[in-house]
Amino acid sequence: IKNSNPFKKLNDEIFVYVARKQKEIDELKRLEQFRREFLADVSHELKTPIFAAQGFIHTLIDGAIDDEQVRDKFLAKAARSLDGLDALVKDLVALSQLETGEVKMSFERINLTHVTQEVFEQLEKVANAKRTSLQLKSSPGGPVWVKADPQRINQVMTNLVENAVKYGNENGRVTVSLEEDKKHVMVSVRDDGPGIPPEHLSRIFERFYRVEKSRSKDRGGTGLGLAIVKHILNAHKAKITVMSKVDKGTTFRFKLERMD
Ligand code: ADP
Repeated sequence: IKNSNPFKKLNDEIFVYVARKQKEIDELKRLEQFRREFLADVSHELKTPIFAAQGFIHTLIDGAIDDEQVRDKFLAKAARSLDGLDALVKDLVALSQLETGEVKMSFERINLTHVTQEVFEQLEKVANAKRTSLQLKSSPGGPVWVKADPQRINQVMTNLVENAVKYGNENGRVTVSLEEDKKHVMVSVRDDGPGIPPEHLSRIFERFYRVEKSRSKDRGGTGLGLAIVKHILNAHKAKITVMSKVDKGTTFRFKLERMD
């Protein structure tokens, strides 16, 4: 008799339905907000190199072209801005493909020792320019096999090692360690650079977040490197962590599944 009220059941059902719809609306609102902020960030980031290149080129047209020294300097600066724009667009495409899940990962058995050596070779010039030494440490030496998407893991390692060199000190040292346990390989990328102040640590994986805006831009950063790293590792079901001490250095770590 207690539950015989026919309206009670209907009432409960309506309540559950409304709650579910409300949740869907909240989620759509959140996505819309995200989209709007993303668009605003992207427009802002695109404008910076475009305005810079425009400025140099217009100054040249307005007469600076007649002075040989000024001309060469301004042309080099315009080219640098356009290179930055190119890097930004590439990173944006990569990030948006990762976010929408447009590109499927292709997991294969790959040798991390080999990937690391390749990355070191790609970054040799940048490292030499800062007299930074690149070192690889792996416990048994030799190949270290993991299950991963080869191109994407190369991108992760490139971004982390490049940052370590870029933000590290002159004459610094960057170490990649590969440690195997039963099921996983723990990868760490360590530098002995200036470190990241604790108040910034939780935010560095956000797109366009930079600890020191001008310094990072000077070094050719797009502000998307770590966001891309995080997304790629997510798709590998791997979490990335960072530990950093000011004036001592920074270490990024993540674990990949072993595949012997
Ligand atoms: P960017 O393109 O600016 O390098 P990232 O997403 O790769 O963008 O990095 C975000 C910010 O985190 C950088 O601007 C820099 O301030 C900081 N950062 C990243 N790696 C390091 C590091 N190894 N040492 C010190 N700061 C770092």
